[in-house]
Order: sequence, then C-alpha cells, then structure tokens
Amino acid sequence: MAYLEFRFIGFMYALVFFFVLFVLWYTKRWRRWQGIVILAITIGLGFLIFSPIIPWQFQQIVLRDIQGIGGPIGIAVIGILIMLVLSFLFGRFYCGYLCPVGAVQELSYLVPVPKFRLKNKTIPYLSRWAFFLVFIGAGIMLSQGILSLFGIRDFFNLIFSAAFFVFLAIVGLSFFLYRPFCRFFCPFGALVSIPAMGSRFRIQRTDACIECGKCERACPTNEAKLADLKAECYLCHRCLDVCPVEGALEYTRVGGRVNRLKKKE
Ligand code: SF4
Ligand code: SF4
Repeated sequence: MAYLEFRFIGFMYALVFFFVLFVLWYTKRWRRWQGIVILAITIGLGFLIFSPIIPWQFQQIVLRDIQGIGGPIGIAVIGILIMLVLSFLFGRFYCGYLCPVGAVQELSYLVPVPKFRLKNKTIPYLSRWAFFLVFIGAGIMLSQGILSLFGIRDFFNLIFSAAFFVFLAIVGLSFFLYRPFCRFFCPFGALVSIPAMGSRFRIQRTDACIECGKCERACPTNEAKLADLKAECYLCHRCLDVCPVEGALEYTRVGGRVNRLKKKE
C-alpha cells in the first residue's frame, strides 16, 4: 500500500475516534479500560503504519518534504488544521488518545512506580515554546528536521539507531514524569495548546464542587484549578476519577454551570 494511503488511514482513524471519544465523554460512558484499548490501538498503528503522527507531519511540512509527507503539502496542512479546529471545539482528544507518541507516554505513566510531579506549568511551557522556535528556525532556514533527534520515526519503525534509544529513554522517563516529550518539546503540542485554551467543551466544576482540592492534586499537568484554561489538559480523566462528589466535575460545554460557580464566590 502506498505511503499516502497509510497517512489517510491514520488520519481517518484519528478523525473517527475523536468523535467516538467526544461522545463517550459527553454522555459519561467513558471507562478507563476503553481509554487503554484506544491507546493500545493508537500505539499499534504507530508501529504498523507510522500514523497518525501529526508532529512528524508538521515537521515534514516545515521542511517542505513532499516525499516525507506522502502527498501534497496542502492536504497535510488541511489535516493539521482540522485537528486544531477539533481541539478548539472539544479539547485535546488527539493528544490524549490518538497520537502514537502521546499514547506510548500515557500508557507508560500508568506503570505503578513513584511519580515526579512539577509544581507549576512554567518550565514545560517555556521549554516547549523555546524548542518550537528552534524547530521552526532550523526547519525553514537550515532545512533541518530536529524532531528526528528524538527518534520518533526510528522508534516506531524499529530502526535501532542512536535516536531510537533517545525515544526509548523518553518512554522510560514517562514511567515517572507525565508525558515529557509532549509537555517539554512537541511543536504540535505547542501549537494545539493555543486553540485548546479556548476549547468549547472541557472539564468544568459545577455548583456541587466542595473545593476539596483532590482534583488539583491528582492532575499531572496542573490544569485542574478553577481558573486553569485547560491548554495542557490531555483528558486523562484523573481529576474526575478522584472527585468525591458526584457531578462536581463535568465534561461539558463552556458557559453553563461553571459560571454560576464563579458568581457564587
Ligand atoms: S503533544 Fe505532540 S506528541 Fe504529545 S500527543 Fe500531542 S501531538 Fe502527540
Ligand atoms: S487530571 Fe483532569 S484537568 Fe488534569 S489533565 Fe487529566 S483530565 Fe485534564
């Protein structure tokens, strides 16, 4: 099968499962086992067809590498724009479950070992935007794809190069630290965090919230406070899992109950 067809299958998978995930979350039918199955399928597609890995496609667009993209640049740009729009509407389901790079880190973090949690969002935020600038500069001015240094392609294609072991180390680090590549380096993650800040559907507190702070302590990205914009919410469900009050946290459309909670304060 042609390279372009692999990309298309991966993109259609991401598109269909984005809506599946949205419906599961919105109707409160999401279960952890379902998330794990989707993560496993996503990782499998990463190894089988190296798709849907949008960060890699983004790099090939910056490099104007038509062969690497597997088709016209315009189509790849439209695909990325669709994911950005969907993330604006419904949150980061792509990053949360449908990107093989993110999925392998998410599953690794489920391994029951002690976790290291950063106290704030500043360091990952600055690191990722600094890397974004270097990534764009190197791509446009030097025609260098520095994402290759992280070994994403070699890892999923089982090419045992030095870069393969870089990504393997990132996977190992993900046992202890939540999504190190996504939060510190991913250029598409930097891009998608902008529309995600204004996502129309997101996890919100309702009037039932007793402000016990359990969700804030459970969130691996420090995005569970009332004022947090959810730019780094990977829809992992941990905050909802630990909430002791039924209905105090809901994945719902912006503009409803959370406003009433703000007025009450
Ligand atoms: S932040 Fe980047 S690597 Fe992580 S899940 Fe999103 S697109 Fe994939
Ligand atoms: S704990 Fe909640 S707010 Fe934090 S990343 Fe997971 S789903 Fe998003």
